[in-house]
Amino acid sequence: MIRVQAVAPGSLGAALGLTPGTELLAINARPLADFLDWEFLTADEHFMLHVKSPAGEEVEYDIRRPEGWPMGVTLEPPRIRRCANHCDFCFVDGNPDDLRKPLYIRDDDYRLSFRYGNFATLTNLKPWDVERIVEYRLSPLYVSVHATDATVRRWLLRNPEAPEILPQLAALGERGIRFHTQVVLVPGVNDGAVLRATLDDLYGLGDAVLSVSVVPVALTEFSKHHLVRSPGRDDCRAALATVNAVAALALAERGFPWCYGADDLYLQAAEALPDASWYGDFEQRENGVGAVRYLETRIAAARAELAVHSGKRIGVVTGTAMGRLMPKVLAGLGEATGATFELVVLENSLYGAAVTTAGLLPGAGFRHALRSRNDLDLVLLPAEAANDDLRFIDDVKVNDLAAELPMEVRLSYDFADALSECGTRNAECGIAEGGRSRGDTHLDIPHSTFRIPHLGEGNA
Ligand code: SF4
Repeated sequence: MIRVQAVAPGSLGAALGLTPGTELLAINARPLADFLDWEFLTADEHFMLHVKSPAGEEVEYDIRRPEGWPMGVTLEPPRIRRCANHCDFCFVDGNPDDLRKPLYIRDDDYRLSFRYGNFATLTNLKPWDVERIVEYRLSPLYVSVHATDATVRRWLLRNPEAPEILPQLAALGERGIRFHTQVVLVPGVNDGAVLRATLDDLYGLGDAVLSVSVVPVALTEFSKHHLVRSPGRDDCRAALATVNAVAALALAERGFPWCYGADDLYLQAAEALPDASWYGDFEQRENGVGAVRYLETRIAAARAELAVHSGKRIGVVTGTAMGRLMPKVLAGLGEATGATFELVVLENSLYGAAVTTAGLLPGAGFRHALRSRNDLDLVLLPAEAANDDLRFIDDVKVNDLAAELPMEVRLSYDFADALSECGTRNAECGIAEGGRSRGDTHLDIPHSTFRIPHLGEGNA
Protein backbone atom coordinates (compact mmCIF):
# COMPACT_ATOMS: atom_id res chain seq x y z
CA MET A 1 0.00 0.00 0.00
CA ILE A 2 1.16 3.51 -0.80
CA ARG A 3 -0.30 6.80 0.31
CA VAL A 4 -0.87 10.18 -1.34
CA GLN A 5 1.10 13.06 0.08
CA ALA A 6 -0.03 15.82 -2.28
CA VAL A 7 -2.12 16.30 -5.42
CA ALA A 8 -1.40 18.94 -8.06
CA PRO A 9 -4.29 21.28 -8.97
CA GLY A 10 -5.72 20.60 -12.41
CA SER A 11 -4.31 17.08 -12.55
CA LEU A 12 -6.21 13.86 -13.10
CA GLY A 13 -5.58 12.97 -9.45
CA ALA A 14 -7.34 16.17 -8.41
CA ALA A 15 -10.23 15.51 -10.81
CA LEU A 16 -10.67 12.08 -9.21
CA GLY A 17 -10.84 13.68 -5.78
CA LEU A 18 -7.67 12.07 -4.45
CA THR A 19 -6.48 13.91 -1.36
CA PRO A 20 -3.47 13.68 0.95
CA GLY A 21 -3.80 10.53 3.03
CA THR A 22 -5.64 8.56 0.32
CA GLU A 23 -4.35 4.98 0.24
CA LEU A 24 -3.58 3.70 -3.25
CA LEU A 25 -4.38 0.01 -2.95
CA ALA A 26 -4.25 -1.59 -6.39
CA ILE A 27 -4.21 -1.05 -10.13
CA ASN A 28 -5.96 -3.66 -12.29
CA ALA A 29 -6.25 -5.71 -9.08
CA ARG A 30 -2.49 -5.71 -8.67
CA PRO A 31 -1.52 -4.49 -5.18
CA LEU A 32 0.73 -1.43 -5.14
CA ALA A 33 3.91 -1.89 -3.13
CA ASP A 34 5.76 1.33 -3.90
CA PHE A 35 6.32 4.24 -6.26
CA LEU A 36 7.61 1.95 -8.99
CA ASP A 37 4.30 0.07 -9.17
CA TRP A 38 2.46 3.38 -9.19
CA GLU A 39 4.51 4.95 -11.94
CA PHE A 40 4.67 1.97 -14.22
CA LEU A 41 1.09 0.82 -13.82
CA THR A 42 -0.39 4.31 -14.26
CA ALA A 43 1.54 4.75 -17.48
CA ASP A 44 -1.22 2.94 -19.37
CA GLU A 45 -4.07 4.92 -20.89
CA HIS A 46 -6.71 2.66 -19.38
CA PHE A 47 -6.59 1.11 -15.94
CA MET A 48 -8.68 0.35 -12.86
CA LEU A 49 -7.54 2.16 -9.74
CA HIS A 50 -8.63 0.96 -6.29
CA VAL A 51 -8.21 3.49 -3.47
CA LYS A 52 -9.25 4.01 0.13
CA SER A 53 -10.04 7.57 1.20
CA PRO A 54 -8.79 9.02 4.50
CA ALA A 55 -12.35 8.50 5.79
CA GLY A 56 -12.06 4.77 5.06
CA GLU A 57 -14.26 4.65 1.95
CA GLU A 58 -13.01 2.28 -0.75
CA VAL A 59 -13.56 3.36 -4.36
CA GLU A 60 -12.58 1.82 -7.69
CA TYR A 61 -12.08 4.16 -10.64
CA ASP A 62 -12.22 3.07 -14.27
CA ILE A 63 -9.67 5.48 -15.73
CA ARG A 64 -9.22 6.36 -19.38
CA ARG A 65 -6.58 8.99 -19.32
CA PRO A 66 -6.38 11.52 -22.13
CA GLU A 67 -2.85 11.68 -23.43
CA GLY A 68 -0.70 14.24 -21.65
CA TRP A 69 -2.97 14.67 -18.61
CA PRO A 70 -0.70 14.00 -15.63
CA MET A 71 -1.83 12.03 -12.58
CA GLY A 72 -0.30 14.84 -10.48
CA VAL A 73 0.05 12.65 -7.42
CA THR A 74 3.02 12.98 -5.06
CA LEU A 75 3.45 9.91 -2.90
CA GLU A 76 4.61 9.77 0.68
CA PRO A 77 8.35 8.99 0.78
CA PRO A 78 9.12 5.32 0.21
CA ARG A 79 10.31 3.01 2.95
CA ILE A 80 14.01 2.75 2.18
CA ARG A 81 15.50 -0.71 1.70
CA ARG A 82 18.12 -1.16 4.42
CA CYS A 83 21.62 -2.36 3.80
CA ALA A 84 22.70 -5.89 4.77
CA ASN A 85 26.41 -5.02 4.79
CA HIS A 86 28.79 -3.61 7.38
CA CYS A 87 31.60 -2.01 5.39
CA ASP A 88 34.47 -0.73 7.49
CA PHE A 89 34.46 2.42 5.38
CA CYS A 90 30.73 3.07 5.64
CA PHE A 91 30.11 6.79 5.72
CA VAL A 92 27.28 6.30 8.19
CA ASP A 93 29.86 5.17 10.74
CA GLY A 94 31.83 8.27 9.81
CA ASN A 95 29.02 10.58 10.90
CA PRO A 96 29.41 12.49 14.14
CA ASP A 97 26.68 12.04 16.76
CA ASP A 98 23.55 14.17 16.83
CA LEU A 99 22.88 14.69 13.14
CA ARG A 100 19.32 14.27 11.90
CA LYS A 101 18.11 10.67 11.96
CA PRO A 102 17.89 9.95 8.21
CA LEU A 103 21.65 10.46 7.93
CA TYR A 104 22.18 7.29 9.95
CA ILE A 105 20.16 5.11 7.58
CA ARG A 106 22.23 2.65 5.59
CA ASP A 107 20.29 2.45 2.36
CA ASP A 108 20.94 -0.16 -0.26
CA ASP A 109 17.96 0.10 -2.55
CA TYR A 110 17.86 -0.94 -6.21
CA ARG A 111 14.81 1.31 -6.70
CA LEU A 112 16.77 4.40 -5.66
CA SER A 113 19.64 3.18 -7.79
CA PHE A 114 17.38 3.31 -10.83
CA ARG A 115 15.58 6.48 -9.89
CA TYR A 116 18.32 8.65 -8.44
CA GLY A 117 21.55 6.96 -9.45
CA ASN A 118 22.42 5.92 -5.90
CA PHE A 119 24.87 3.06 -5.83
CA ALA A 120 23.51 -0.25 -4.54
CA THR A 121 25.37 -3.48 -3.84
CA LEU A 122 22.49 -5.83 -4.86
CA THR A 123 23.36 -8.01 -1.84
CA ASN A 124 19.80 -7.72 -0.51
CA LEU A 125 18.01 -8.56 -3.78
CA LYS A 126 15.25 -11.17 -3.49
CA PRO A 127 14.10 -13.24 -6.48
CA TRP A 128 10.99 -11.08 -6.81
CA ASP A 129 13.16 -7.96 -6.88
CA VAL A 130 15.04 -9.42 -9.82
CA GLU A 131 11.76 -10.04 -11.63
CA ARG A 132 10.63 -6.45 -10.97
CA ILE A 133 13.92 -5.08 -12.28
CA VAL A 134 13.42 -7.01 -15.48
CA GLU A 135 9.67 -6.39 -15.80
CA TYR A 136 9.99 -2.64 -15.27
CA ARG A 137 13.31 -2.49 -17.14
CA LEU A 138 15.06 -0.66 -14.30
CA SER A 139 18.09 0.16 -16.36
CA PRO A 140 20.71 1.40 -15.99
CA LEU A 141 21.33 0.50 -12.37
CA TYR A 142 24.27 1.91 -10.42
CA VAL A 143 26.12 -0.90 -8.68
CA SER A 144 28.90 -0.89 -6.10
CA VAL A 145 31.07 -3.79 -7.14
CA HIS A 146 34.28 -3.00 -5.25
CA ALA A 147 35.78 -6.39 -6.20
CA THR A 148 34.60 -9.26 -8.37
CA ASP A 149 36.49 -11.79 -6.28
CA ALA A 150 33.76 -13.10 -3.97
CA THR A 151 36.03 -13.46 -0.94
CA VAL A 152 37.46 -9.98 -1.25
CA ARG A 153 34.03 -8.46 -1.82
CA ARG A 154 32.53 -10.24 1.18
CA TRP A 155 35.43 -8.96 3.23
CA LEU A 156 34.93 -5.41 2.03
CA LEU A 157 31.20 -5.53 2.62
CA ARG A 158 31.64 -7.46 5.87
CA ASN A 159 28.89 -9.71 4.62
CA PRO A 160 29.69 -13.43 4.34
CA GLU A 161 26.29 -13.98 2.73
CA ALA A 162 26.85 -11.55 -0.14
CA PRO A 163 26.04 -13.32 -3.42
CA GLU A 164 28.68 -13.34 -6.14
CA ILE A 165 28.34 -10.14 -8.11
CA LEU A 166 29.50 -11.34 -11.53
CA PRO A 167 26.75 -13.98 -11.98
CA GLN A 168 24.21 -11.41 -10.74
CA LEU A 169 25.29 -8.82 -13.27
CA ALA A 170 25.59 -11.40 -16.04
CA ALA A 171 22.10 -12.81 -15.42
CA LEU A 172 20.48 -9.37 -15.35
CA GLY A 173 22.60 -8.28 -18.30
CA GLU A 174 21.30 -11.19 -20.38
CA ARG A 175 17.79 -9.94 -19.65
CA GLY A 176 18.56 -6.45 -20.93
CA ILE A 177 19.62 -4.59 -17.78
CA ARG A 178 22.65 -2.30 -17.99
CA PHE A 179 24.94 -1.06 -15.23
CA HIS A 180 27.16 1.81 -14.26
CA THR A 181 29.51 0.37 -11.67
CA GLN A 182 31.98 1.65 -9.13
CA VAL A 183 34.95 0.35 -7.21
CA VAL A 184 35.65 2.15 -3.93
CA LEU A 185 39.37 1.74 -3.64
CA VAL A 186 40.49 0.45 -0.24
CA PRO A 187 44.26 0.27 -0.12
CA GLY A 188 45.66 -3.14 0.68
CA VAL A 189 42.32 -4.86 0.00
CA ASN A 190 40.99 -4.30 -3.51
CA ASP A 191 43.86 -2.49 -5.20
CA GLY A 192 46.79 -3.93 -7.19
CA ALA A 193 46.06 -7.28 -8.86
CA VAL A 194 42.56 -7.40 -7.34
CA LEU A 195 41.68 -4.11 -9.02
CA ARG A 196 43.00 -5.27 -12.38
CA ALA A 197 41.08 -8.55 -12.13
CA THR A 198 37.91 -6.66 -11.14
CA LEU A 199 38.16 -4.32 -14.12
CA ASP A 200 38.95 -7.20 -16.47
CA ASP A 201 35.99 -9.21 -15.17
CA LEU A 202 33.62 -6.28 -15.59
CA TYR A 203 34.99 -5.57 -19.04
CA GLY A 204 34.32 -9.20 -19.90
CA LEU A 205 30.60 -8.68 -19.29
CA GLY A 206 30.50 -6.70 -22.53
CA ASP A 207 27.65 -4.30 -23.19
CA ALA A 208 25.98 -4.98 -19.84
CA VAL A 209 28.49 -2.81 -18.00
CA LEU A 210 28.31 0.70 -19.39
CA SER A 211 31.08 2.16 -17.24
CA VAL A 212 33.18 1.61 -14.16
CA SER A 213 34.61 4.25 -11.89
CA VAL A 214 37.40 3.89 -9.38
CA VAL A 215 36.86 6.14 -6.37
CA PRO A 216 39.33 6.44 -3.48
CA VAL A 217 37.73 5.55 -0.17
CA ALA A 218 36.74 8.66 1.80
CA LEU A 219 37.01 8.56 5.56
CA THR A 220 36.04 11.11 8.15
CA GLU A 221 37.48 11.88 11.55
CA PHE A 222 34.99 9.39 12.99
CA SER A 223 35.61 6.46 10.63
CA LYS A 224 37.08 3.13 11.72
CA HIS A 225 40.69 4.09 11.06
CA HIS A 226 41.96 0.99 12.88
CA LEU A 227 40.30 -1.12 10.17
CA VAL A 228 40.69 0.90 7.00
CA ARG A 229 43.13 3.54 5.84
CA SER A 230 42.93 6.29 3.28
CA PRO A 231 44.93 5.79 0.09
CA GLY A 232 48.16 7.72 -0.22
CA ARG A 233 49.62 9.33 -3.30
CA ASP A 234 51.37 6.13 -4.44
CA ASP A 235 48.21 4.05 -3.95
CA CYS A 236 46.29 6.51 -6.12
CA ARG A 237 49.00 6.62 -8.78
CA ALA A 238 49.09 2.82 -8.99
CA ALA A 239 45.31 2.66 -9.26
CA LEU A 240 45.30 5.33 -11.97
CA ALA A 241 47.89 3.37 -13.93
CA THR A 242 45.58 0.35 -13.84
CA VAL A 243 42.57 2.47 -14.79
CA ASN A 244 44.47 4.00 -17.68
CA ALA A 245 45.66 0.62 -18.96
CA VAL A 246 42.10 -0.71 -19.07
CA ALA A 247 40.78 2.57 -20.49
CA ALA A 248 43.37 2.40 -23.29
CA LEU A 249 42.19 -1.11 -24.15
CA ALA A 250 38.54 0.00 -24.09
CA LEU A 251 39.31 3.04 -26.21
CA ALA A 252 40.96 0.86 -28.84
CA GLU A 253 38.26 -1.82 -28.84
CA ARG A 254 35.09 0.09 -27.99
CA GLY A 255 35.88 3.67 -28.92
CA PHE A 256 35.43 5.16 -25.43
CA PRO A 257 37.41 4.83 -22.18
CA TRP A 258 34.71 2.88 -20.26
CA CYS A 259 36.90 2.87 -17.13
CA TYR A 260 37.31 6.18 -15.25
CA GLY A 261 39.22 7.44 -12.26
CA ALA A 262 37.26 9.76 -9.98
CA ASP A 263 38.47 13.34 -9.91
CA ASP A 264 39.59 12.74 -6.35
CA LEU A 265 41.84 9.90 -7.51
CA TYR A 266 43.65 12.32 -9.83
CA LEU A 267 43.81 14.96 -7.13
CA GLN A 268 45.26 12.58 -4.57
CA ALA A 269 47.68 11.21 -7.14
CA ALA A 270 48.67 14.79 -8.02
CA GLU A 271 48.04 14.03 -11.69
CA ALA A 272 46.27 16.19 -14.27
CA LEU A 273 42.61 15.54 -15.00
CA PRO A 274 41.77 14.35 -18.52
CA ASP A 275 40.07 16.76 -20.91
CA ALA A 276 36.28 17.04 -20.93
CA SER A 277 36.06 14.92 -24.08
CA TRP A 278 37.41 11.94 -22.10
CA TYR A 279 34.20 11.72 -20.12
CA GLY A 280 31.70 11.48 -22.98
CA ASP A 281 28.27 12.30 -21.51
CA PHE A 282 29.69 12.59 -17.97
CA GLU A 283 27.51 9.72 -16.88
CA GLN A 284 29.23 9.27 -13.52
CA ARG A 285 29.74 12.95 -12.79
CA GLU A 286 27.59 12.77 -9.67
CA ASN A 287 30.00 10.16 -8.41
CA GLY A 288 32.78 12.71 -8.72
CA VAL A 289 33.95 11.42 -12.10
CA GLY A 290 34.57 14.26 -14.52
CA ALA A 291 32.75 16.66 -12.18
CA VAL A 292 35.36 19.37 -12.59
CA ARG A 293 35.40 19.16 -16.37
CA TYR A 294 31.61 19.08 -16.41
CA LEU A 295 31.51 22.25 -14.38
CA GLU A 296 33.91 23.97 -16.76
CA THR A 297 31.81 22.81 -19.69
CA ARG A 298 28.62 24.15 -18.13
CA ILE A 299 30.20 27.52 -17.44
CA ALA A 300 31.60 27.76 -20.95
CA ALA A 301 28.22 26.89 -22.47
CA ALA A 302 26.38 29.43 -20.33
CA ARG A 303 28.84 32.29 -20.82
CA ALA A 304 26.61 34.14 -23.21
CA GLU A 305 23.66 33.95 -20.81
CA LEU A 306 25.48 35.11 -17.73
CA ALA A 307 23.84 38.23 -16.42
CA VAL A 308 25.92 41.32 -15.98
CA HIS A 309 27.07 41.65 -12.40
CA SER A 310 29.35 44.54 -13.17
CA GLY A 311 31.29 45.84 -10.22
CA LYS A 312 29.92 43.22 -7.82
CA ARG A 313 32.17 41.30 -5.52
CA ILE A 314 31.03 37.66 -5.48
CA GLY A 315 32.25 35.03 -3.03
CA VAL A 316 32.35 31.40 -4.18
CA VAL A 317 32.45 28.93 -1.30
CA THR A 318 33.69 25.38 -1.74
CA GLY A 319 35.51 22.56 0.02
CA THR A 320 39.22 21.92 -0.05
CA ALA A 321 39.01 19.39 -2.89
CA MET A 322 37.52 21.80 -5.40
CA GLY A 323 39.45 24.64 -3.81
CA ARG A 324 42.57 23.39 -5.51
CA LEU A 325 40.95 23.41 -8.93
CA MET A 326 38.54 26.28 -8.63
CA PRO A 327 40.89 29.10 -9.68
CA LYS A 328 41.07 27.51 -13.13
CA VAL A 329 37.31 26.98 -13.18
CA LEU A 330 36.67 30.58 -12.21
CA ALA A 331 39.06 31.95 -14.78
CA GLY A 332 37.07 33.92 -17.29
CA LEU A 333 33.95 34.22 -15.14
CA GLY A 334 34.93 37.74 -14.12
CA GLU A 335 35.35 38.69 -17.74
CA ALA A 336 31.98 37.19 -18.64
CA THR A 337 30.05 38.90 -15.85
CA GLY A 338 31.99 42.04 -15.02
CA ALA A 339 32.19 40.91 -11.41
CA THR A 340 35.15 40.15 -9.18
CA PHE A 341 35.17 36.63 -7.79
CA GLU A 342 36.75 35.58 -4.54
CA LEU A 343 37.23 31.94 -3.69
CA VAL A 344 36.40 30.98 -0.10
CA VAL A 345 37.76 27.52 0.65
CA LEU A 346 36.46 25.85 3.81
CA GLU A 347 37.80 22.94 5.79
CA ASN A 348 35.05 20.71 7.07
CA SER A 349 34.48 21.66 10.69
CA LEU A 350 32.00 18.84 11.26
CA TYR A 351 33.68 15.77 9.73
CA GLY A 352 37.28 16.90 9.93
CA ALA A 353 39.75 18.13 7.34
CA ALA A 354 39.93 14.74 5.60
CA VAL A 355 36.44 15.31 4.19
CA THR A 356 37.13 17.67 1.34
CA THR A 357 33.91 17.65 -0.64
CA ALA A 358 31.77 20.80 -0.78
CA GLY A 359 28.58 18.76 -0.44
CA LEU A 360 29.20 17.91 3.20
CA LEU A 361 30.08 21.39 4.41
CA PRO A 362 27.95 22.34 7.43
CA GLY A 363 25.88 25.49 7.72
CA ALA A 364 27.82 26.51 10.80
CA GLY A 365 30.99 26.53 8.72
CA PHE A 366 29.45 28.87 6.15
CA ARG A 367 28.21 31.13 8.93
CA HIS A 368 31.59 31.29 10.61
CA ALA A 369 33.39 32.11 7.37
CA LEU A 370 30.93 34.68 6.03
CA ARG A 371 29.22 36.52 8.87
CA SER A 372 31.67 39.41 8.91
CA ARG A 373 32.24 39.63 5.15
CA ASN A 374 30.54 42.96 4.59
CA ASP A 375 32.74 43.45 1.56
CA LEU A 376 30.91 40.79 -0.47
CA ASP A 377 27.74 41.64 -2.42
CA LEU A 378 26.77 38.09 -3.19
CA VAL A 379 27.91 34.65 -2.13
CA LEU A 380 27.39 31.36 -3.96
CA LEU A 381 27.14 28.30 -1.73
CA PRO A 382 27.37 24.74 -3.09
CA ALA A 383 23.78 23.67 -3.76
CA GLU A 384 24.60 20.03 -3.11
CA ALA A 385 25.34 20.92 0.53
CA ALA A 386 21.60 21.47 1.13
CA ASN A 387 18.86 18.86 1.02
CA ASP A 388 15.39 19.28 -0.46
CA ASP A 389 14.19 20.90 2.74
CA LEU A 390 16.95 23.47 2.27
CA ARG A 391 18.87 22.35 5.34
CA PHE A 392 22.57 21.78 5.51
CA ILE A 393 24.03 18.58 6.93
CA ASP A 394 24.05 20.07 10.44
CA ASP A 395 20.38 21.05 10.11
CA VAL A 396 21.07 24.77 9.72
CA LYS A 397 18.38 26.12 7.39
CA VAL A 398 19.56 27.86 4.25
CA ASN A 399 17.08 30.69 4.69
CA ASP A 400 18.08 31.22 8.33
CA LEU A 401 21.70 31.42 7.29
CA ALA A 402 20.86 33.81 4.46
CA ALA A 403 19.02 36.07 6.93
CA GLU A 404 22.06 36.17 9.21
CA LEU A 405 24.67 36.95 6.58
CA PRO A 406 25.40 40.49 5.41
CA MET A 407 25.36 39.66 1.70
CA GLU A 408 22.90 38.09 -0.74
CA VAL A 409 23.10 34.29 -0.65
CA ARG A 410 22.38 31.90 -3.50
CA LEU A 411 22.81 28.16 -3.83
CA SER A 412 24.49 27.08 -7.01
CA TYR A 413 25.55 23.88 -8.70
CA ASP A 414 27.48 25.40 -11.54
CA PHE A 415 27.46 29.25 -11.34
CA ALA A 416 25.44 29.47 -14.53
CA ASP A 417 22.31 28.49 -12.58
CA ALA A 418 22.82 31.36 -10.14
CA LEU A 419 24.43 33.99 -12.34
CA SER A 420 22.43 33.70 -15.53
CA GLU A 421 19.52 36.06 -16.08
CA CYS A 422 17.14 33.26 -15.16
CA GLY A 423 18.98 32.54 -11.90
CA THR A 424 19.01 36.22 -11.12
CA ARG A 425 15.27 36.44 -11.72
CA ASN A 426 14.67 33.49 -9.42
CA ALA A 427 16.63 35.19 -6.69
CA GLU A 428 14.68 38.40 -7.18
CA CYS A 429 11.50 36.39 -6.73
CA GLY A 430 12.75 35.28 -3.33
CA ILE A 431 14.06 31.86 -4.31
CA ALA A 432 17.19 31.29 -2.30
CA GLU A 433 18.69 28.76 -4.66
CA GLY A 434 20.09 29.50 -8.04
CA GLY A 435 17.99 26.70 -9.50
CA ARG A 436 17.90 23.00 -8.79
CA SER A 437 18.27 22.00 -12.38
CA ARG A 438 18.82 18.35 -11.51
CA GLY A 439 15.19 17.86 -10.58
CA ASP A 440 15.36 17.76 -6.80
CA THR A 441 16.49 14.19 -6.65
CA HIS A 442 18.07 14.73 -3.30
CA LEU A 443 16.37 12.48 -0.74
CA ASP A 444 17.54 13.02 2.77
CA ILE A 445 19.37 9.74 3.09
CA PRO A 446 23.07 9.11 3.30
CA HIS A 447 23.94 7.91 -0.17
CA SER A 448 21.98 10.68 -1.81
CA THR A 449 23.91 13.08 0.28
CA PHE A 450 27.12 11.58 -1.00
CA ARG A 451 26.16 11.43 -4.63
CA ILE A 452 26.92 15.00 -5.37
CA PRO A 453 28.41 16.79 -8.31
CA HIS A 454 31.49 17.89 -6.43
CA LEU A 455 33.79 15.00 -5.74
CA GLY A 456 31.29 12.85 -3.92
CA GLU A 457 32.33 9.90 -1.82
CA GLY A 458 29.92 7.42 -3.38
CA ASN A 459 30.61 4.90 -0.67
CA ALA A 460 27.78 2.45 -1.12
S1 SF4 B 1 28.93 1.70 2.67
FE1 SF4 B 1 26.94 1.30 1.74
S2 SF4 B 1 26.97 -0.93 1.43
FE2 SF4 B 1 28.56 -0.51 2.93
S3 SF4 B 1 27.58 -0.72 4.94
FE3 SF4 B 1 27.44 1.44 4.37
S4 SF4 B 1 25.45 1.62 3.41
FE4 SF4 B 1 25.97 -0.53 3.41
